[in-house]
Amino acid sequence: MVEKIHRHIIMLGPPGAGKGTQAAILSEKLGINTVSTGAVLREFSNSGTKEGNKVKALIDKGQMVSDKMMIKIMKEILSKPENVKGYILDGSPRSIPQAKGLDKMLASRKMKKLGQELDAVLYLQVPDDYVIERIIGRFQCAHCKTLYHERFKPTKVFGICDECGHKEFTRREDDTFETVVSRLRAFREVTAPLIPYYEKKGLLRCIDGTGPIDVVSEKIRKIVGY
Ligand code: ADP
Ligand code: ZN
Repeated sequence: MVEKIHRHIIMLGPPGAGKGTQAAILSEKLGINTVSTGAVLREFSNSGTKEGNKVKALIDKGQMVSDKMMIKIMKEILSKPENVKGYILDGSPRSIPQAKGLDKMLASRKMKKLGQELDAVLYLQVPDDYVIERIIGRFQCAHCKTLYHERFKPTKVFGICDECGHKEFTRREDDTFETVVSRLRAFREVTAPLIPYYEKKGLLRCIDGTGPIDVVSEKIRKIVGY
């Protein structure tokens, strides 16, 4: 039995595990925002501000944005009035230093007052071969950002978004076989240490992510308690 609905959530798992897909479902069910730090960074880097330009220069060079910068961005996002109801973090923290920075930030008086402490870390477990197939086939509506998959979640009508009717779709440039292999390695080396980190805090919830989307979201529903 879950006593209270979890509304402060981190999505953890390898690229292609289904984090974005499940975050979108949760977001709708709970009425809270998903914070995809990747998308935030891309948006931020195009904002034309001084900080934005700094981030853009880093991304263009293929370099990682510093942990300090990530924490700063997360703090800004989690302080926004529209996120006080809760949040689903998709794509961060991505490393132990980021997780520690987030912990410190969430322990601050301001965040405690806002009630932003973490409730659960949902770890989607999916083997590498699933991940590769999921990533290579994924695409997204250019307009409303709904996620699709050529095989597992095609649009109902070919070439038309189910949600908004637009006909333009995008693929992430880094969704190729070559980059997936190195992204999986990066996950294992840099991000996977977060699994024992959150387990020790009693926040980790492991979810078998291999089934169809609705089966996985049902497992998540039970954990989150909505
Ligand atoms: P992540 O955010 O973890 O990188 P996504 O949510 O983008 O992963 O999912 C990757 C791709 O796999 C998407 O095209 C999505 O439609 C598809 N997908 C997500 N969950 C499942 C699932 N349970 N079964 C089959 N395909 C899935
Ligand atoms: Zn759309």
